[in-house]
Amino acid sequence: MAQIIPKNLIQVESHWQKELASSFTDPFKLLAYLNIEPEGFEKDALARRLFPMRVPQTFAQKMEKGNRNDPLLLQVLPLRKEFDLASGFSADPLLEHDTASKGLLHKYKSRVLLIVRGGCAVNCRYCFRRHFPYQDNAVSKQEWLETISYIARHPHIDEVILSGGDPLMAKDDFLAWLAEQLSALPQIRRLRIHTRLPVVLPARINTAFIDWFSRINMQRVMILHINHANEIDDALREKCQALKRAGISLFNQAVLLATINDTVEDQLALNDALFEAGIQPYYLHLLDKVQGAHHFLVDDQRAREIMKQVVERQAGFLVPKLVREIGGEAGKTPVDLLMHP
Ligand SMILES: *Cc1c(COP(=O)(O)O)cnc(C)c1O
Ligand code: SF4
Repeated sequence: MAQIIPKNLIQVESHWQKELASSFTDPFKLLAYLNIEPEGFEKDALARRLFPMRVPQTFAQKMEKGNRNDPLLLQVLPLRKEFDLASGFSADPLLEHDTASKGLLHKYKSRVLLIVRGGCAVNCRYCFRRHFPYQDNAVSKQEWLETISYIARHPHIDEVILSGGDPLMAKDDFLAWLAEQLSALPQIRRLRIHTRLPVVLPARINTAFIDWFSRINMQRVMILHINHANEIDDALREKCQALKRAGISLFNQAVLLATINDTVEDQLALNDALFEAGIQPYYLHLLDKVQGAHHFLVDDQRAREIMKQVVERQAGFLVPKLVREIGGEAGKTPVDLLMHP
């Protein structure tokens, strides 16, 4: 019998959770799947102790078979370089461990971050949250209500950002409940979600999610985290279209990463692919100097050179802002392309 229901319309929540549960956690299995010889890799695999490996199959499918230097693989594969202690790199480069109320980070004046969920569907090796003590941050429903009343007491907060980890790791009934509580606060204009899940596990964008997110009486913004054009495929493009039809504005923030996207060509291709998928390029971040990620660092001078050429070659609306995050600063600091150190 012909299959008449397209796979992406299957509504069951457990569908994405099943896919998530079948993620690669063993680097040798991922290498075998990609037809890459594991020779000499034992020492690299030990870096799992520093930060576990987690790679959904739908992300691994976008990698090029047989290519040990695939730019998607290098974002997620544990390497022995993570054991190096590099000066200037620390466990908490953004000094983020203080929370003003349970589950809440109030580091920007008009915006608050809610740490909705610990973990992510994918563990990116460069992540500045690789040492974040999420366990300490488990938040009960009562505590969420207190956090919402904290927001209510600060009327200059007009935007709530769901963050994590990855906020879309939470179930839709919880997210819908939280959004409903926030909808009751007249001061909140926008609800924003920062997520990498649609990229690594497109099934997460299901009708249950789109239903509650399009029903709320706030402006809806989603910031995707995509670092390379190869991450954008038909499955993601379809989901982006569904999100846009539901009135959700889509932006992207990327991190500038050595060996992954540190050429002018990489950046041009990423910006083109994003815009074609209906996603507005927004930020290109310099790496946060987190211990274990020094091998991803692109220095300021090189970053400026890349961006100067991108600015020359692409329409202004395709070019993201080059920024860095400085611990303790309220907001990102733009990197001036004309400055010479
Ligand atoms: C930068 C950032 C924000 C907020 O910054 P905007 O300048 O308002 O976009 C929120 N969450 C995350 C994860 C960020 O990186
Ligand atoms: S998805 Fe984002 S928060 Fe999660 S590991 Fe990757 S970079 Fe870090």
